[in-house]
Amino acid sequence: MDLQEILDRIAADMAATQDRGRVAGYIPELACVDPTQFAIAVATADGQLLSAGDADVPFSIQSISKAFTLALALGRLGDQLWHRVGREPSGNAFNSITQLEREAGIPRNPFINAGALVVTDSLLEARVRSEVLAELLRFLRHAADDDDIHINKRVAASEEATGHRNRALAEFMAAHGNIHNDPAQTCWTYFHQCAVEMSCRQMALAGRFLMGGASGPTMLAPARMQRILALMLTCGHYDASGDFAFHVGLPGKSGVGGGILVIAPGRASIAVWSPGLNANGNSQLGTRAMMQLAAKTGWSVFQ
Ligand code: GLN
Repeated sequence: MDLQEILDRIAADMAATQDRGRVAGYIPELACVDPTQFAIAVATADGQLLSAGDADVPFSIQSISKAFTLALALGRLGDQLWHRVGREPSGNAFNSITQLEREAGIPRNPFINAGALVVTDSLLEARVRSEVLAELLRFLRHAADDDDIHINKRVAASEEATGHRNRALAEFMAAHGNIHNDPAQTCWTYFHQCAVEMSCRQMALAGRFLMGGASGPTMLAPARMQRILALMLTCGHYDASGDFAFHVGLPGKSGVGGGILVIAPGRASIAVWSPGLNANGNSQLGTRAMMQLAAKTGWSVFQ
């Protein structure tokens, strides 16, 4: 199997695809991203970095940031975090409010927006928001071994201006005592973490901390890594998580910027990006490309 050839074929197939989904329209800055772009990058356990397509173009990582903030929060709080957020798939949209009301302000999992707001809120305890963002950037830069990773302030401001739904989630959880800081501060920090930009090559490298094996940086205890991967498999694609597990068979975390970070445990960290989304808010071509990559490599964890 020649991995570079597989990636080139996938990129060519995606370039020929007409139906690319729709870019996220509810965050104005993301609505202007060119939908014709596609990239894939693979960092392998034996230390290679292969890519195809627009793999050096930075994209908004959005909810992929939730996998990194979860790692940071587990590092700070350990299992205490699980008193405030669950570990079950939600079966609902990423920004759903209804379930939160029925379940008394405890979000189903750390990857839906409500859960990610709790995770960010936990990082803010006894610290100011700029320290939390600095810690996140330090973590990403160290994981990717690249200092050129930044927050796009325009994207953050765009979401701040339109983030009524996230503010509603935070305020609702504050009413239940599950947001401990000023909800506006928690949302501000969350909007900025989502506005980090990375290219596929940077993201594939950054994801190595979840890959295990010898080549990635050791930033997590193996038991913690397994837990994050289990949540990525069951909750990483919101109400399409079952479908992604069914078709791809690998833990992944998607974002409305059109990126997906996928881990083949012990083998590879994979980043794929195309801005057009499907109805569940996951990258349409990214999902398709991952189905092809999993089929061609046999990397499914169920293989
Ligand atoms: N910043 C986005 C939001 O809160 C993240 C959502 C996502 O990527 N699924 O709506």
